[in-house]
Amino acid sequence: MTTQPDKIGVLVVGAGPVGLLCAFLGRLHGLNVLIVDKSSGPTVVGRADALNARSQQLLEIVDVHAELYPHGKAVNTSSVWADGKFVSRQSTWWEELQGCFHKHFLMLGQSNIEALLVRKLAELDSPVRRDTSVVAVEAVDGGCRSTLSTGEVIESRFVIGADGSRSLVRTAFGIPFEITRPEIIWAVLDAVVDTDFPKVPDIIVFQAETSDVAWIPRERDLDRFYIRMDVKEFTLDDVVARINRAMHPHKLTLREVDWFSQFSVKESVAERFSLDDKVFLAGDAAHIHSVNGGQGLNTGLSDAFNLMWKIGMAAGSDLPRDILRTYEQERKPVALSVVQASGVLVRATKYSDNGTHAVDYVKILERRSGYITGMGIRYGEDGLAGSRFFDFRVQNRDGSESRIYSLLDYRYFTLLVFGDELPHLDLPLFVRVIQVGDAPGKGDCWSDDCPYSNQVLLVRPDSYIAARSSIADTAPIADYLHALTTARETAR
Ligand SMILES: Cc1cc2nc3c(=O)[nH]c(=O)nc-3n(C[C@H](O)[C@H](O)[C@H](O)COP(=O)(O)OP(=O)(O)OC[C@H]3O[C@@H](n4cnc5c(N)ncnc54)[C@H](O)[C@@H]3O)c2cc1C
Repeated sequence: MTTQPDKIGVLVVGAGPVGLLCAFLGRLHGLNVLIVDKSSGPTVVGRADALNARSQQLLEIVDVHAELYPHGKAVNTSSVWADGKFVSRQSTWWEELQGCFHKHFLMLGQSNIEALLVRKLAELDSPVRRDTSVVAVEAVDGGCRSTLSTGEVIESRFVIGADGSRSLVRTAFGIPFEITRPEIIWAVLDAVVDTDFPKVPDIIVFQAETSDVAWIPRERDLDRFYIRMDVKEFTLDDVVARINRAMHPHKLTLREVDWFSQFSVKESVAERFSLDDKVFLAGDAAHIHSVNGGQGLNTGLSDAFNLMWKIGMAAGSDLPRDILRTYEQERKPVALSVVQASGVLVRATKYSDNGTHAVDYVKILERRSGYITGMGIRYGEDGLAGSRFFDFRVQNRDGSESRIYSLLDYRYFTLLVFGDELPHLDLPLFVRVIQVGDAPGKGDCWSDDCPYSNQVLLVRPDSYIAARSSIADTAPIADYLHALTTARETAR
């Protein structure tokens, strides 16, 4: 049965964590969102297990982090053990992070993130439509036309393919996605365990003949193990034997198994992340790679934060549509680098020039820490513009203390003036102003701890610095805003 098409703003295909976040951020921007998923419910066990520092920071801006945080476990130390003995411990790349207050992974199963976003969307009157697949999608004048498994036809201005690694949206538009398979197969196990190993809240990489077992602390009394098997057929007993071999002379048994699965490493980045300013790919639909470094979910969440303010502002006519092209320009290079970083890591578990796989692995983690923590990602070559905005403590006028990130709003750009005088700038409605003084009673809030004294920063909704100037000469900010709000005809 085919019914009359319904016109909506954004159709989000897929209610995994990335689709859910896209839908939620779209609703914050007042977009009319329909999110559909072919499954009958969200993830309840397994899959991704960690939020990095940047994801936590971004989730704070949209008031999601505080509800998740108490359920997870803060972990920032990677250690190496061999022959039952402690070899080394590393956490400097977390501790030396500047401008953030969660210098650690938050170990927390993907199901927690999905459950919270599902509830938030229902509260915003955009519940996920379950048991509903998108079976076809095409570009039409003014947007896209999608056909659902129910026979309904949905017309929308935008379609977001957050439909996972086998993305129908990507396939429907013929976007190449060439997959590399390095023949590395892992078992993954979430369990409550009994062991005589001295339990510590570290990520532990065991050095045996190679380094084929990693132990990750998780929420509650759960633990996660990644075990490289390199064969397709194996049993839970085989996996436990391999863990015990790596931990020898310590012993481990399983008390309760929460999730047991396997994955063979696949690596790919979609050739295009967007088409015609109306079709976008995000999350696993756009990039897949090994889980080493815990970057899959985190990279997908950052895709959503990068994309949705652009769609929100383009749909609301605040910005010309060519802002949408910056999504692919910014996120595809990040995805390529993430695939490269996780690829080097996963291969290091198998190959080592000198037999010190586990130590090599942790050294690679350190070298690639900008991606692992999420804090090294920037848009643009150098300088403050394009870098992430640093968080710092502020005192509010009522005497209470907060952090500058809690004053940011994902629906707006923020002009931050660090000084006593407000510059004369003609600002569009999508820019809010916060004046940060350097002493009590000055500005909207004040701080003696901020790294941006006597400057003016224009900060994007996803908290990257768009432009900077001095207080005396704000021409660079005026020029940036002029360019941003003026449509350019770009040939594609
Ligand atoms: C088996 C497995 C194990 C994993 N293990 C780990 C791990 O140990 N550690 C780690 O960090 N990461 C792991 N990951 C990766 C991590 O789960 C993903 O990076 C993350 O889920 C990406 O989120 P996403 O929303 O982009 O895609 P997904 O979570 O895959 O969500 C896509 C959604 O789209 C829906 N969908 C697909 N096609 C359609 C359609 N045509 N119409 C409607 N809905 C559709 C699906 O039902 C699904 O809900 C694992 C992934 C898988 C698949």
